[in-house]
Amino acid sequence: MIDRRLLLTSVTGLFGLAAFRMLKPSPAHSAEKFEIEKSDAEWRAQLTPQQYEILRNQGTERPWSSALLKEHRKGIFACAACDLPLFSSETKFDSGTGWPSFYRPLENAVGITEDRSYGVVRSEVHCRRCGGHLGHVFDDGPKPTGLRYCMDGLALVFHPGAPTPS
Ligand SMILES: [Zn+2]
Repeated sequence: MIDRRLLLTSVTGLFGLAAFRMLKPSPAHSAEKFEIEKSDAEWRAQLTPQQYEILRNQGTERPWSSALLKEHRKGIFACAACDLPLFSSETKFDSGTGWPSFYRPLENAVGITEDRSYGVVRSEVHCRRCGGHLGHVFDDGPKPTGLRYCMDGLALVFHPGAPTPS
């Protein structure tokens, strides 16, 4: 005879686990295919733990923690995971938010997906080539686009002096 209490407990346990999984923010673009795809272990080996948390796990760095906030030289900001050029210094601006901000990405550099984690709808920005999570884009930016690409500095690497396409 099946122990009814035991059965109920395991059903509740399974349901609880499913509910927990649903609450966890999952990358909206997980089904998307990217030019550069690596296993989880490969990304962990290549990136620092902080970079992994942002780029592969949709994390966010502490505001005002990025050295790139004070980066005012001319150059290119590239993906920290695959080095694809993403933003030109020409489009960087001081948003006062504590994260490096740009009003426009380079052409064919980023992809955008709707992010519904934490019960709010935001536009998630990721690298077009490797799918690495970079930050979010908001519509309260400066002219000429009115957009604010709010980026995690740890998801970017700066190449000073690199040619900046206008
Ligand atoms: Zn990338």
